[in-house]
Amino acid sequence: MSESMSALRQRLAEIEDLRGATELLGWDQQTMMPPRGAEQRAEALGTLERIAHERFTDDQTGRLLDAAESELAGVDDDSNDVRIIRKARRNWEKARRVPTDLAAEMAHAGSIGQEAWVAARAANDFGAFAPHLQRNLDLVRRYVDCFDDFDPSYECAYDVLLDDYDPGTRTREVSRLFDELRDELVPLIATLSEHAFEDQIRTAAFPVSGQRQLVGEVLRMMGFDPAGWRLDDTVHPFATSLAIGDVRVTTRFDEHWFPMALYGAMHECGHGLYAAGVAPELERTPLASLDSLSTHESQSRLWENLVGRSRPFCDRIAPRIAELAGGPLAALSGEQLFRAVNQVTPSLIRIEADEATYGLHIVLRFELEQQLVEGRLSVSELPEAWNAAMKQYLGVDVPSDADGVMQDVHWSCGLIGYFPTYALGNLISGQLWRQAHLDLPDLDQSLVEGDFQVLLSWLREHVHQVGSKYSRRELLERVVGGPIAVEPFVSYLKAKLGDVYQLSLS
Ligand code: ZN
Repeated sequence: MSESMSALRQRLAEIEDLRGATELLGWDQQTMMPPRGAEQRAEALGTLERIAHERFTDDQTGRLLDAAESELAGVDDDSNDVRIIRKARRNWEKARRVPTDLAAEMAHAGSIGQEAWVAARAANDFGAFAPHLQRNLDLVRRYVDCFDDFDPSYECAYDVLLDDYDPGTRTREVSRLFDELRDELVPLIATLSEHAFEDQIRTAAFPVSGQRQLVGEVLRMMGFDPAGWRLDDTVHPFATSLAIGDVRVTTRFDEHWFPMALYGAMHECGHGLYAAGVAPELERTPLASLDSLSTHESQSRLWENLVGRSRPFCDRIAPRIAELAGGPLAALSGEQLFRAVNQVTPSLIRIEADEATYGLHIVLRFELEQQLVEGRLSVSELPEAWNAAMKQYLGVDVPSDADGVMQDVHWSCGLIGYFPTYALGNLISGQLWRQAHLDLPDLDQSLVEGDFQVLLSWLREHVHQVGSKYSRRELLERVVGGPIAVEPFVSYLKAKLGDVYQLSLS
């Protein structure tokens, strides 16, 4: 390797190490840390963030980028080195726009805000949470202001935020996709509401010890390897990876709502498989940072929903649930489980929402976030606007802010512009699922047999191993031959729900 390129790689590897340390502190905060550690943890996160930011944005990184760029002039555009330089250059230019103090303030406010959110949500006290949200919004606006004239493709403040969570994605495109998605989902949900059925399965008692056993078995079927993975409990499940061989997933158990732990764990394991599948030669480069969160979410959703709520998987897992749960679930059949976990019911909580109503939870957040960022909606007006939108989109009355506007962790830690990636991930999962079936005619049979490796190998080859070498747009072009689209997801959903409800929906 050339001298300049190896010097650049060395520097970028150190930045990745610092980010790994930040991830570890964040993971610890959400799984292990006693509450009184919060104040000092916020300081530590702020310090690490500042050091990483200073080291990455200094002039020396720029000189290394310049030297590596001229050394690699004319090299194949598809080479890892060229892609590393291009991604690092873009990130460097973006990070240089943000003063170190602002980056540290954002990290600090996010950490404090998250602790405040836990308490405010438990007390159903939006007033206690509001100043933290206001602070995060003020910081986000200062952040957006740093990008004046940065990129001609930025058309609005929200584009700046979205670009951090899904590079290259713009508000205009998301609005168009979400309009189409909403127009498909609203009548579908209305039709299914007329055919609502009772279900006692999801809330039936299933002792947590048995659920732990089930979750462990399912994750191992998927590819969870104790040598490189951990599973821990948390309040708001997430996955993080400190290295390709150090993947941390979390879930939450409730004796009277077993799908939460099972599907939450499958979801986070899907994220983990993506991180664990990155080619080893990309370790400690920016290409191992999987920064298209919509692509990330396509992996978690694919395992959670398209695999986990499929008829073959339900047939496979129902007898094991019956065995482990006993009691009211002792005679559970695959058909009963399949119907129960695919029931469509407009409800309050996003993370408990079914696949059809889920998209509307995201459309609502996408619209409110834009209004907040642009100042068209104030923090004090937010609960009322939230409740009105829930009524309009889902027909649901919101009984408390704890289960309404305060239900998600994101805004408390300053993650604004993040939510759309969840629904974009659903759309991408539909596209990948269709393509995998075209490429693998025996895919369904392998799932019936409980063999997930056929699917995992396909995902590794087409999606995981390249890390973030390609943008979300390029990756989809390469794998499915076209741009992000609503139709494959909606077709998949209508076919499955038609089966569940015994209706013709297409
Ligand atoms: Zn996820």
